[in-house]
Amino acid sequence: MDKSDEKTLILDRNYTCPICDKKIKAKAVKTNSAKFVETKADLRPIHSNINVNKYETICCPNCGFAALTKNFTNTTQTQRRLIRENIQANYKSHEETPCDFYTTEMAISRMKMTLLCTVKKQAKDSEIGNVCLKLSWLYQDLADELPEDDPASAKKRENYLNEANNAAMNAYEHLTKARMNEDFPIAGMSETTLDYLLAYYSYVRGEYSTSMQYLSGVVSNRSTSPRLKDKCLELKDLVNAKLHPSE
Ligand SMILES: [Zn+2]
Repeated sequence: MDKSDEKTLILDRNYTCPICDKKIKAKAVKTNSAKFVETKADLRPIHSNINVNKYETICCPNCGFAALTKNFTNTTQTQRRLIRENIQANYKSHEETPCDFYTTEMAISRMKMTLLCTVKKQAKDSEIGNVCLKLSWLYQDLADELPEDDPASAKKRENYLNEANNAAMNAYEHLTKARMNEDFPIAGMSETTLDYLLAYYSYVRGEYSTSMQYLSGVVSNRSTSPRLKDKCLELKDLVNAKLHPSE
């Protein structure tokens, strides 16, 4: 990925902060400019020309409020009060340093602020789980950016992947609760997509029977897309190998 190209793929979007009413900007990927390659086993999207995961948050430098772009404007009155009391009251407002694009480190600190605000405003489990999922993706993106030939990379990669796993397990916890108590779509996912993700996380946690239960449901559901069905079958092989190691 050529860094000099990245700024041509993004633009500044203008928003009004729902907490402090100030006009603010956040960088966003231009519509239809990212070239999709694949999604990883945990649904992390990969694009060939830009990392879209970096441009999913809006952060107000004046009051500290941060949210996923799609949740930024839809706060309730109670949530705005909670943010004013728990975030704005302790936040030092600052001018944002101009930049051409967000680095993955910047995106992670924005996503962490988003997580803090999402928890403090007592958002639904689906919203908290969604932020944790995206934080997990960003740490994996950061690990992917490490140079292969640098001896310091191995230790850093291990740390980043640990952080990614912690965020993923938080996502698992919140998305499992959301699945029981909320209506679909949950965190932008249909029932089959979410169940696939929970199957994958169950596999990572070593809960192979639970993983298989989720997978069976997804594979037998007629609304499952062929692409998702393929992912399920790949995962099923991995789970089966754990359940029946001798075969
Ligand atoms: Zn604000």
